[in-house]
Amino acid sequence: MTAQIYAPTQANLHRLVAALHEGDLVALPTETVYGLAANAFDARACQKIFRAKGRPKADPLIVHVLGLQQAALVAELNPAARQLARAFWPGPLTMVLPKKSVVPDAVTSGLSSVAVRAPAHSLFQKILRMAGRPLAAPSANRFGCVSPTTAEHVQEGLGRQIPHILDGGSCQMGVESTIVDLRDPDRPRLLRPGVISAAQLETVLGKPLVDIARASQPASDSPIAPGMMKRHYSPKTELHLVRRITARLAREADRGVALLYYRKPANPSSTKGRIFWMSSDGSSRTAARRLYAALHAIDRLSLRCLYVEAAPAGAGPEAAAINDRLRRAAARR
Ligand code: AMP
Ligand code: MG
Repeated sequence: MTAQIYAPTQANLHRLVAALHEGDLVALPTETVYGLAANAFDARACQKIFRAKGRPKADPLIVHVLGLQQAALVAELNPAARQLARAFWPGPLTMVLPKKSVVPDAVTSGLSSVAVRAPAHSLFQKILRMAGRPLAAPSANRFGCVSPTTAEHVQEGLGRQIPHILDGGSCQMGVESTIVDLRDPDRPRLLRPGVISAAQLETVLGKPLVDIARASQPASDSPIAPGMMKRHYSPKTELHLVRRITARLAREADRGVALLYYRKPANPSSTKGRIFWMSSDGSSRTAARRLYAALHAIDRLSLRCLYVEAAPAGAGPEAAAINDRLRRAAARR
């Protein structure tokens, strides 16, 4: 099988919705990263997601909906969830809530909770409206690898495993959604940082969040929540996370090493295309958007290793998400 990439014409959207109805997988753009979608009510279609990605069965899928009304079909909403949805949906916020019985175990890995989010991407929304049902979708990449932010990244990673990819250009946000656990609305927990910051959630909720990624530093590769592996989002090139790329490290670029600066250096040295940066202007928004594209580009060079600069303190609201992904990408196997 080789995946076909579709331009977003009306005829192609109809074909892809028909494919979803038949139980096929379709990779779709969202504002965060590309997702690998299946009809969330079709257990067999959802099982195909795990096979295509090589994803452990115990790592549950996020269910994508148009908004609160559709979310209420799959999850028990509480006032905190409604408040956050009104503030941040459609957008990069996933909420974990008690599930309704219509959601197959294949989606939730047999848990009594379900993760829901309403994506802001207009093409994903069109597909949801035409499909008339929620879609389960994790990122459209092999498990543990760098998430895709273009249709070409999906093709490189999963082109032989899946039939269809909808091309929506480059993703606007570039890192995965913020995940908040609201099963106990009195004790909301941040499961994964994202573009929507903990501080923004706390302002709307009017109470502090428990940040479980920080509260419990796992000693081994045991997940801190389902799917929250210590090592994840990793390029093939061995990644070293550093606070700053010093002049000494920069000289390494002449010896088969790639450098990924947080911010474009003033005078990048002569280094045969091994120098990359996340942001030309230092804004964390641009850095989040370009991070994964830079890692994909570096992997294509097949170099020995890569030094990446962390987002500096005070870089902006996306810094926590960028550094969370980089810490996991750097974790040893
Ligand atoms: P992703 O791999 O980006 O699709 O994100 C999925 C992550 O959301 C999982 O790895 C879990 O950490 C979290 N998640 C999804 N469903 C549930 C659930 N039912 N209960 C708790 N966490 C969930
Ligand atoms: Mg993923």
